[in-house]
Amino acid sequence: MSSQGPESENAADLINGIRSSEPTKTFLHKMDNIHKRLYEAKAAANDCKDPVPPRVQERLADLIIKARPYVPTVNQVSVGVCTVASFSGRERRRVVFKGEGAPPECCAFSGKYGQPCYHGAAAIIQVYGEGNLWKYIHPRYLTSTWQSQYHNVDFELPSQTAIDEAFAEARRLVDNGDNLQVPKAIAPCVSLVVS
Ligand SMILES: [Zn+2]
Repeated sequence: MSSQGPESENAADLINGIRSSEPTKTFLHKMDNIHKRLYEAKAAANDCKDPVPPRVQERLADLIIKARPYVPTVNQVSVGVCTVASFSGRERRRVVFKGEGAPPECCAFSGKYGQPCYHGAAAIIQVYGEGNLWKYIHPRYLTSTWQSQYHNVDFELPSQTAIDEAFAEARRLVDNGDNLQVPKAIAPCVSLVVS
């Protein structure tokens, strides 16, 4: 969101002693921006046909590469457990599958972000294949969750007539003076008091 245009115009007007740009112009510009960005984001979410949004796809693609050095031993998958050896082969991790919608349990990372650690990803890829990796992440990363954020979310801009009416009413209230508050009395500065 940016109101840079009217703001810089305002700043220039102040320097030049001309105040042609009203604060309301800044406000309206901001409102237009919010409206535009909301509908762009909503369209991007609704147009997504993949099970996970592009940014999550990128993360999973990276995870597939990073998981390659880890070698799972899949002999215990029938009970939901598999052992994954690190690249060096010195360390072995116990990976416990928690079913779809959750990453397998493993190291500290696996419980933190709702995404599999490298060991967990290696185990999922070995057992279910790369194409199913997305099924073992928290549902908050899914396209359906992304789309649901915009469900029933609408922000209709008021019509020019409604804006004009609101400004005319505000001007009327200012002009009749009834709603203006009396400034607080401030004690005069001593140096300015003429005796
Ligand atoms: Zn791990």
